[in-house]
Amino acid sequence: MRVVLLGPPGVGKGTQGRRLASERGWALISTGEMLREAVSQATPLGLEARRRMDRGELVPDDVMIGLIRERTQQADAAHGFVLDGFPRTVPQADALETMLEERGQRVDAVALLQTSEEEVVRRLSERWECPVCQKAYGLEAPPRVRGRCDEHPIAALIQRADDAPETVRRRLEVYRRQTEPLVEYYRKLGRLREVPGTGSVDEVFGFLKRALNGAAART
Ligand code: AMP
Repeated sequence: MRVVLLGPPGVGKGTQGRRLASERGWALISTGEMLREAVSQATPLGLEARRRMDRGELVPDDVMIGLIRERTQQADAAHGFVLDGFPRTVPQADALETMLEERGQRVDAVALLQTSEEEVVRRLSERWECPVCQKAYGLEAPPRVRGRCDEHPIAALIQRADDAPETVRRRLEVYRRQTEPLVEYYRKLGRLREVPGTGSVDEVFGFLKRALNGAAART
């Protein structure tokens, strides 16, 4: 199954996507993660992307589409994947439809995670990440030991540069203007599943699975 996770920054796409992918044996494809990796390695992509990411703006569509075209063809994605952070614009969604169609595939379901804007801002300001495995911790999912990753206790948790309040506001604006139109886009295609994003990580995961099981039964 190929699933897209849609929703504003901080709603829990990364956390839920990671869990879903590992439970089902699918690849987790997070474009934000791929870009952060490129930035930390100072690759040409990283150098190009960094300025925009730091400002909370989007990286150009053609760059992102090329990245996803390659990544979705890797062996670990053959049995299914979860997309976290892609598509983020209508041209990206169109390109995804076309590239999958060329391979006789399609996006089976789009899970829209929803919560209030205050909740998103609150969560982002409390979000901490492991620099080794990128696992996210926050109010709903604190680490066992304060400031340390459960799996890599040697590494001190860090905050993402783009989680600074000013950049968060900009990212939310960008979401509303450029990404939110995808809600109607996928609703019209009959693939949208609305998932409440408020509650504990376990609760939201339960809602997500229920929404996807419904999608699988309908396809
Ligand atoms: P995320 O981790 O999904 O919040 O992404 C962090 C940043 O990476 C975003 O604010 C964008 O600058 C960039 N980014 C991630 N995915 C995309 C995408 N599909 N299109 C454009 N920019 C992206």
